[in-house]
Amino acid sequence: MSFRQHHLLQNLPVDLTRLSLAEWDEFFGLLGFSSKSKLCVYEAVFHHEVSDVSDIPGLDDSEIGTLQRLVIIRRSEKHALRRSVDGSYRLTIELHDGHQAETVIIPEWQDGKLRKCSASISSQIGCFFGCSFCATGRMGFHRNLSTVELLNQVRLAESVIRSELKTDLTHLYFMGMGEPMHNYRAVSDALTVMRDEAAPGPPPSRITISTVGLFRQIRMLAMDHPEVRLAVSIHSADQETRYRIMPVSSRLGLPEIRDALVFHMRLTGLSPTVQYLMMDGVNDSPDDARKLVGYLGDLSANITLIMFNPVPEAQLNRSGQEKTDHFITVLEQASFPVDIRWCYGEDIEAGCGQLKVRRRDDRISFSMRHKQQTGEPLQ
Ligand code: SF4
Repeated sequence: MSFRQHHLLQNLPVDLTRLSLAEWDEFFGLLGFSSKSKLCVYEAVFHHEVSDVSDIPGLDDSEIGTLQRLVIIRRSEKHALRRSVDGSYRLTIELHDGHQAETVIIPEWQDGKLRKCSASISSQIGCFFGCSFCATGRMGFHRNLSTVELLNQVRLAESVIRSELKTDLTHLYFMGMGEPMHNYRAVSDALTVMRDEAAPGPPPSRITISTVGLFRQIRMLAMDHPEVRLAVSIHSADQETRYRIMPVSSRLGLPEIRDALVFHMRLTGLSPTVQYLMMDGVNDSPDDARKLVGYLGDLSANITLIMFNPVPEAQLNRSGQEKTDHFITVLEQASFPVDIRWCYGEDIEAGCGQLKVRRRDDRISFSMRHKQQTGEPLQ
């Protein structure tokens, strides 16, 4: 018996919604289920909302009895839905342990028609990395979300989009609370499950993973999921400035991140998006723009400038129009495509880089919203 099998048997009943795909194989290997029965349980747990083993189709009585003795299926539930005056939604999901995850749904209209409807999901409760501009970073790290919890956010977002907007989820972003690459195993498993058409979520080419630059995981993503898009938050091409606003960058050197971006691009053929939060007096001078140009060099990247919603505790302000215009001019002169992303939805406590999560009894908060001005679909 492997260590993992031993561990699983030591922790009965096993919560099927907490297992990775590798653990899933180990566990059902131990139970001796046939491939067909294993697939029935997999589809019930990963693709659908089944929470009672007796409701799983295709199993015989003895298999149902085995599962009733050995497993539980804990589900998350929609807890609250708030609509912003700008038409976006904030979906709060109650997890089995009292934590709450938040998903933001953003419909985008053009000429009176719904052009795109995206969801930004959380990958962790809190975050380990403590970026100075981010409310989530101030919460500390609570826990990772499991693969099923990630999929459940997507499924609940799809159901809200269908009932409220009568349309489908077109794009999915792992840009909510937490650093998705710091929860790589669960995120990667969720991407694997979503390859199946019966699973929730859009096709992989319409999924984007955002990261502060965890370069090993960027390489792993390129190898494991070459169709999935990548967005990297650089925020400053000056290592010292970056360290001041993103303490994690002491371990994430800019050269290593760039090497990983090159690796990702060569392997996938996709241009990464470089995200840059425009902070007044911190990273928004023409010199900062030139440093970014120098850093990216001949990398074929799309740059997204994020118009920052001030976070009171962080004492940071959004860059003014004039500075932003100069910044864009420098980037465009170097032939980089530039998009602007606006944050909005303050009336439902939703603003770029501000994530709050709430446990039943203590208040934390979250949000992540965006709007692209160009009219082009987000990549
Ligand atoms: S910006 Fe991202 S990585 Fe930084 S603290 Fe916030 S959630 Fe974590």
